[in-house]
Amino acid sequence: MRLLALLCFLAAAAEPAWKAGVAKVSITPDGPIWMAGYDARTKPSEGVLQDIHAKALAIQDDSGAITVLVTLDLVGVAPSITGPIVERAEKLGIRRERLLLNASHTHSGPGAGEEWVLRFRDRVAPEQVAIVRAYTRQLIDKVSGVIATSVRNLAPARISFGQGLAGIAVNRRRLANPSWPGPVDHDVPVLAVRDENGRLLAVAFGYACHNTTLGDYRISGDYAGFAMDSLETQNPGAIALFVQGAGADANPLPRRTVELAKSHGSTLAAAVGEVLSGKMKPVSGLLRAAFENVEVPFQPPPSREELTARLSGKDASKKRNAGWLLEALERDGRIRSSYPDPVQVWQLGDGPTMIAMGGEVVADFALRFKAKYGWSTTWIAGYSNDVFAYVPSRRVLAEGGYEGGGAMINRPFPGPFLPEVEETIANKVDALVQRVRR
Ligand SMILES: [Zn+2]
Repeated sequence: MRLLALLCFLAAAAEPAWKAGVAKVSITPDGPIWMAGYDARTKPSEGVLQDIHAKALAIQDDSGAITVLVTLDLVGVAPSITGPIVERAEKLGIRRERLLLNASHTHSGPGAGEEWVLRFRDRVAPEQVAIVRAYTRQLIDKVSGVIATSVRNLAPARISFGQGLAGIAVNRRRLANPSWPGPVDHDVPVLAVRDENGRLLAVAFGYACHNTTLGDYRISGDYAGFAMDSLETQNPGAIALFVQGAGADANPLPRRTVELAKSHGSTLAAAVGEVLSGKMKPVSGLLRAAFENVEVPFQPPPSREELTARLSGKDASKKRNAGWLLEALERDGRIRSSYPDPVQVWQLGDGPTMIAMGGEVVADFALRFKAKYGWSTTWIAGYSNDVFAYVPSRRVLAEGGYEGGGAMINRPFPGPFLPEVEETIANKVDALVQRVRR
């Protein structure tokens, strides 16, 4: 009897006690600001349809390590934004591999970061650039603050995981090319964090689809913003965090009205609600994390002569791209041949494996990794840590089109990626998955 009591005591003591803390802060701009997402916009924002936010979920495992998921209603993040945030988080003891910054890719958010300024400085008045720079400084302070608050809020918690489905996303490449296969990832991964009394503290959920229902001049989080608002209204006191998936080739269709954005949002919130009210798997164990940059290779750049010739061409995008590359040649003596793509993997105890990639990643990556690592237990996030360009699979690259390489002209990069881009990322993901599952 005494032995049994001892065993029970040991089992209870060995049961990992999670701690979790959440926080959110509004990152709605104070006034009109140039918006990010659609390059064709011709004026700054006009009003606010919905507040946008930075939200943080801090999780501490039994080893004491603190891991923080940050979600942002922004089109993307880039090194000039993440760099200072990572530095400040490290001062709180949060290691690089334990901080994940995911952008919802809302196309109704403000421009931010020096990378944005580089791309738009010739199309936007200097006073608009100054507004974006001031906003960026505020953003960095606010995100650093919300991370610190989430860590301060750490308290005993229970974590569970489940997955649902929602049918909002449509493979948008089929619009122009109906014969292309057009895979979509409709999964809705859901992580529920509850306090000791079972009250919902936070719900983090994912979906792989551009936040492009809306295309006007009002600030909003698009369908993801409406989904989060709806979940927070239904669960008073809880914070809902949207994690963008490998949604580079998906649009929410039909679209372009506020009613549709709200309707897509409530569809997604309902899918999350179904998972929350169903039987979710309790998660226990340690949260293991890995992070590395992998160099994704570009096709060889045009020659200096070709670039100089493009400067006097008629195509504005080609001219701009040639200007950026010639500037790099002047400054660095070379044009970069690859880009450091941040890859991050979290293993949440005996729960999900979360694979987060930089850039705008197409659905093929999600389907490939889920087939390899588990359909019900693999959470794929794109738009994480650095949204530098579209990242096509080998198939999408070969097909071409906007996501396959066409969009690259709008970036300060030499050209489309080389066909090995998919394998290069998959190999790095696999190395990190093996490391966290060891
Ligand atoms: Zn996009």
